[in-house]
Amino acid sequence: MTFVYRRVYRGKIQAALLDWAGTTMDFGCMAPAVVFVKVFERAGVPITMDEARAPMGAHKRVHIRKIIELDAVRARWQAAHGRPPGEQDVDRMFADFVPLQVECLSDYSDLIPGTLEVVKALRARAIKIGSTTGYLRDMMEINLRDAKRQGYEPDSTVCASEVPAGRPAPFMCLQNVINLQVSPVEACVKIDDTVPGIEEGLNAGMWTIGLAISGNEVGLPLEAWLALPDAEQEARRQRAHERMRRAGAHYVVDTIADVLPCFDDIEARLARGEKP
Ligand SMILES: [Mg+2]
Repeated sequence: MTFVYRRVYRGKIQAALLDWAGTTMDFGCMAPAVVFVKVFERAGVPITMDEARAPMGAHKRVHIRKIIELDAVRARWQAAHGRPPGEQDVDRMFADFVPLQVECLSDYSDLIPGTLEVVKALRARAIKIGSTTGYLRDMMEINLRDAKRQGYEPDSTVCASEVPAGRPAPFMCLQNVINLQVSPVEACVKIDDTVPGIEEGLNAGMWTIGLAISGNEVGLPLEAWLALPDAEQEARRQRAHERMRRAGAHYVVDTIADVLPCFDDIEARLARGEKP
């Protein structure tokens, strides 16, 4: 008889990899959405907030390309300019995007409630804190400075521009694995508010927690979310949870403030020999 022996990791969680906008900072993931709208307005083809948000999580240049690939946007571009959009338009809009984004990042850099408490609790369990982002490094310098001022300082931050490909590719997560010197990948948990961000964690072989309310899926600042009538909140919550689940997230919760029970559950599953 022939047997194959399977190796199983039954240790502890070693690292949590947190997204930035919509996860730890900028409730509603407003900063990039607002700037994409502005950049397309300047290009003579105004877009809606939903169109601006559709590719959220990607490298910002890829994000612009994905917006112009939307059928409705292509049609409006053709109508406005008498030709379809091309790569040179992506280049120009990305060049517009960078300074506009840098200029307004600090207006949206408040930490999301629960971030400090959760990071502290994770560190108490000897879990390292890594992070990934679709922002470029000079944008991250602003966010890192503002986060530190508020008491949040991850052990590692990797930008999409520093790896061969951004989300949904796994490379930012894997670069964090190297930076943090943790192993194996199933000892890591990726937390994100976007579908590409969940896919990034899954592609890296990690556990994933989707955040339904604080980020791109609902897309509202904290005060606007709190001001919604209960029924409207519930409808949006359900739609967002459903989207994150369909993306394959192992867990979906409202915001980062709710993730600790997921860590308990993952540790129990690891102890039973489960893999992500
Ligand atoms: Mg995000």
